Amino acid sequence: EGFACGGFLIYNAGGKEVGTILALIDISAPADLMKKTASIASIAFLILSLITFFMIALLMRYSISKPIENIFQTVKTIAEGALTTRSTIKSKDEMGQLASAVNSMATSLEEAKKELDRRVLELFTLYSVSKVLNTTFETEELLLRLVSDISKNLDIHRVMIMMLDEKGLELYPGSFTGFQKEELKEVRRAVGEGLFGNVAVTGTGRLVRDVDTEPNLSKEDIFSTDIRSIIAVPFGRREKIIGLLCAFKDRPGMFEMHDLELFEAVAEQVAVALENARLYQETKIQAITDGLTGLFNHRFLRTRLATELERAARYGHNLSFIIFDIDNFKHYNDTHGHPQGDKLLKTLSELLLKSIRVSDIACRYGGEEFAVILPETTKDAAILLANRIRKAVADHPFPFRESQPLGIVSISVGVSAFPIDAGESDAIIIKADNALYKAKSEGRNRTASA
Ligand code: GH3
Ligand code: MG
Ligand code: MG
Repeated sequence: EGFACGGFLIYNAGGKEVGTILALIDISAPADLMKKTASIASIAFLILSLITFFMIALLMRYSISKPIENIFQTVKTIAEGALTTRSTIKSKDEMGQLASAVNSMATSLEEAKKELDRRVLELFTLYSVSKVLNTTFETEELLLRLVSDISKNLDIHRVMIMMLDEKGLELYPGSFTGFQKEELKEVRRAVGEGLFGNVAVTGTGRLVRDVDTEPNLSKEDIFSTDIRSIIAVPFGRREKIIGLLCAFKDRPGMFEMHDLELFEAVAEQVAVALENARLYQETKIQAITDGLTGLFNHRFLRTRLATELERAARYGHNLSFIIFDIDNFKHYNDTHGHPQGDKLLKTLSELLLKSIRVSDIACRYGGEEFAVILPETTKDAAILLANRIRKAVADHPFPFRESQPLGIVSISVGVSAFPIDAGESDAIIIKADNALYKAKSEGRNRTASA
């Protein structure tokens, strides 16, 4: 049509056409006009080229540099530890793909970090629990420290240890944190019944994600109105379950399988610690107990007498001491045998325990000699008690007593008292012992006092 035409197509970095620049020159006009037109066209072409150049630069900035800068900034922030940062680029081109790859990498990192944090918390909890479990052998103190430590470390408001009673029939709250004492006063769960009773029978831990949707959950298992999530795991010694470790949260879905696993690991440690505490208590008791009679032994008598004397001196109280010895016991042993003699010692210990108050301390002093520490007791009262014990023995129908020289099983008793007879333990014992020998020499089956 008499025009010459030239032009450009403009593409962005993604290869998409975003614009066109066209130049037209009229070639049908006269030559000078053509010249003029050509120079105008050249200038126009130059201007258009410049515009094109700027547009391309602008496009490059918006389609390449800006997104790269954005992605770079995102990566930098993630590297600094803000793992929740994400790139906002949503395009489908290479930049968009790069941004989405960076975002998925950040998501993976975030998840790995969460898992790592959880593992660290688990390990820390186990470490902390094991530390707590080694701080004391006193069972009650141990349980209390344990629930508060778990509650603190895992940020669980309510933690409870339920213990199985001696008959193995009922579970009761042994130790807890986050509950009011009143709330749990009546709590007793029969073994085999409800959530806790079942855990005690099956020996398998249970996880309740939401008490409102959990089937077969008895109302009695929800100890407080705002409980929504529950964990209960058993702990025991060998095959025998001795209690449950339980945790409660006031929102649903607060516990997961990994929490159950952690509680199971903690429960294992609890079982070991409780067993250690039990053995320790047993050993402690054994160390101060006489094996045959179950009374306190000589060693305990010594330390306890010293302590009681110190207390009596400090508060200006009385204290009396009784020592007695079975009359003609050698004869009894020789006639009826040592095992029969042992039986007599046991029965006599029972008679002794029945005759005294709980605050009195009865001990097996030696072979067939016994002693009683009587705190806050005057000498007169002690003599009365000594005679009561003596009479209880003399009146008791021990087997074969008629074959004894006195026709009965009897004891001779010596009494001494603080402060009138002596001020310290050795002297108190010697004074009572001397009195005992006086009772023996005066004919046996009698009481003598220092
Ligand atoms: P006495 O009236 O003077 O006390 O005469 P006795 O025969 O009781 O003399 P003594 O107190 O010396 O007797 C101690 C006897 O006690 C010797 C031993 O046969 C007996 N005996 C000591 N310990 C035990 C024990 O653990 N079991 C038994 N079966 N007998 C014991
Ligand atoms: Mg003796
Ligand atoms: Mg004797």
